[in-house]
Order: sequence, then C-alpha cells, then structure tokens
Amino acid sequence: MEREFEKIIQFIRNVFGAENISLHEPCFCGNEKKYVIDVIESTFVSSVGEKVTEFEQKIASYTSSKYAVAVVNGTSALHLALRVAGVGENDEVITQALSFVATANAIRYLGAHPIFLDVTSKTMSLDPEKVYDFLSNNVQQQKYQGKKVSINKLTGRRIAACLPVHVLGHPARIDEIVQICDEYSIPVIEDASESLGTFYKGKHTGTFGLMGVLSFNGNKIITTGSGGMILTNDKSLAVRARHLSTQAKQIHPWEYIHDDIGYNYRLSNLQAALGLAQVEKLDFFVDQKRKLAQVYKDFFDKMDKIKFFEEPEKARSNYWLNAILLPDLNFRDKFLKLTNTAGVMTRPVWRPLHKLVMFKNELAMSLEVTENIYKHAVCLPSSVIKQKL
Ligand SMILES: *Cc1c(COP(=O)(O)O)cnc(C)c1O
Repeated sequence: MEREFEKIIQFIRNVFGAENISLHEPCFCGNEKKYVIDVIESTFVSSVGEKVTEFEQKIASYTSSKYAVAVVNGTSALHLALRVAGVGENDEVITQALSFVATANAIRYLGAHPIFLDVTSKTMSLDPEKVYDFLSNNVQQQKYQGKKVSINKLTGRRIAACLPVHVLGHPARIDEIVQICDEYSIPVIEDASESLGTFYKGKHTGTFGLMGVLSFNGNKIITTGSGGMILTNDKSLAVRARHLSTQAKQIHPWEYIHDDIGYNYRLSNLQAALGLAQVEKLDFFVDQKRKLAQVYKDFFDKMDKIKFFEEPEKARSNYWLNAILLPDLNFRDKFLKLTNTAGVMTRPVWRPLHKLVMFKNELAMSLEVTENIYKHAVCLPSSVIKQKL
C-alpha cells in the first residue's frame, strides 16, 4: 500500500511542479489588480457601484439565466433564495446529507427542517428516484389558500422546497428532479455553489429549477474573496431577493424607508471587480480543470484498486474537485494521513450532515449510498494549472 501511495504523491508533485500542494487555490492571472485599483480610485468600494451590476450581467449571460443577484457569499444566497421561494418556520426542505454544511444551515436559518434523501453513486447528487419514492409514499397533496401544497404525512409539515446540490462540480440529474417536484408543486432551488462552468444536457447547472445558487469563495472555480449569487428567470423573485439583500430599503432620493426585515447581503463593488477579472478567465479555468481531470484519469486507470470519479453521462463538468474512490475506510484513512503529512493536501468528502450534532434529529431516509461515498471518496489537489496543459 505504502509504495503505491508514494507513487501517487510523486505523480501529483510532478503534475503541479511543486513539493507542497494545496487542495484548491485561486488563480489570479488576469485583470484582477487593474480592476480592483479602478474601484479603489473611484471610491465606490461598497455595495453601490457599477461593477456589481456588470458582474451580475456577465454571470447571467454565461449561464443563460435572465437574472442574477450578487450577494456576500454562497450561504447567504441559499438563505435568501429559500426565503423568497416561500420557505418558512416549520416547513421542510428535501435535500441531501452529502453536502457542505451551509446547505442545511440555510434551511435551519428560516426555522425550516431538512429531509435528507440519498444520492446516486454516479453523480454524488440527489437521486431523482429517491425523491420520487419519498414523495409518492409519504406525501399528501392538499389545497391551501387556492394553492396546491404537499404535506409530509410522517411529520404533518409542508414540504416547501427541494434543494439538490451539484457535488464537486458534477451535475445532478436535475431535469428529472425538477419534473418530479413539479408534480408536487415543490419549487427546486439548486445549490450550484461548486458547479459554475458545468453544463448538463447543454444547459448550465443552477438554471433548471426556480432558482440556482453560486458561491465565489476563495476555494471555488472563480472567486471574489467571498461572494455568492442567485440565478433565476423569474423577475419578481430577482427583484425581491435584491430588495431583501439591501436591508429592504425602498428607493427614495433621501429618506430611509424599509418595508421588510432585510439583510446586509449585497456584494461589494470591490469584490465584484475581482469577480469581473475572474469571469474573463472562466473558460480557460474550465478547460484546464478538464484537462487535469484527464491527466488524473489516465494515471488512475492503470491502478486496479483505485477508481477515478468521472463526470456523469450528458454532463460537461467543471471538475471543481477531482476525486478518487478507494477500496475501504482503512485504506482511505491511511491515504489521507500519508498525503497530508507529505504536504500534498487531500480531503475526504464532508461528514454526512445527518451525522452532525445539530442535524441528528432531522428526518433522514436510508442513506446507504451517501455513507458509502463518505467511506471511499478522497478529493485531490485540483487548482487551475497556469501553463496550458
Ligand atoms: C461553498 C459551498 C457553499 C457555501 O458557499 P460560501 O460562499 O462559502 O458561503 C454552499 N454549498 C456548497 C455545496 C458549497 O460547496
């Protein structure tokens, strides 16, 4: 085992041309400095300024989304998207336990509860068949104030949304999930925090459901330092999200009039400047990351105990983080220890959310695939390599 690990470490060092390698670092190889200095010189460093709007337009156009609302991070984008979708106190939101903690936290911020369903082994994302089974076995559809609502018979609560995650940049079978949820009048909000640049059946992730959420954290494919965005084709949702993100302040030449409990969630002009420079490089980043994935795949295809995790069918993935599947937990833990000790950063996938103290009493169905992926998967260094591969 150890000799095999040494071989892998050496291979990764050769690919990146360094001894110590982080999991994912940003690549500032464009107009970042220039645009940030422009903003500093303009003095418009906070949330008022044209760079924010420009950045929104660039992302909207790249993703073919009609509207984009820039906010301070991906977590706040999730919070806001769920709120404008109508999720509230004591509602439930179908999601997956295989995700970053922010996905479930955002649900709890609104006093709602997650329902954890399983993922598929090919996508690591929410399994449409599990969604179908859950809804057809446990839901009663009712009319409430002229609208169809879906009540979970197990808890008596309303299921107000479904929040699938495009894990590691690979797309969920999102069209099927949306179709099933439509039948139950459940809006779908996509956590596309990791999947900017990923297309499924030719359409950008985050644009299949009612809304999609992006993150521009420092470890994501493009970064604004910290930032996030809501994508939607629904004008009224975009307007309301933007309004709530700016303390629900009404437009008035001098008065301070606020008409709701809003948030200080608007992205700053300074951050948007960084984002604008980054988005110019997005095609190059995706290209380099896809090539890196191919390099990893060719290498691991020659090893019989280790399997490279590939993009699912009909996907063009951004390969945000490359992952391999190891034979068992013991193997995984030894691998994690050896690589990290050697300065080659690797990480397991997240501890499944239903195992965390604050979510252990939430409703979780059978999560066999989720738990299996957790035991086998390890993420590898995946930063953009600056020299063309
Ligand atoms: C990064 C990430 C988020 C949160 O984004 P932040 O910008 O860090 O708040 C949410 N969900 C997933 C799946 C993520 O990977």
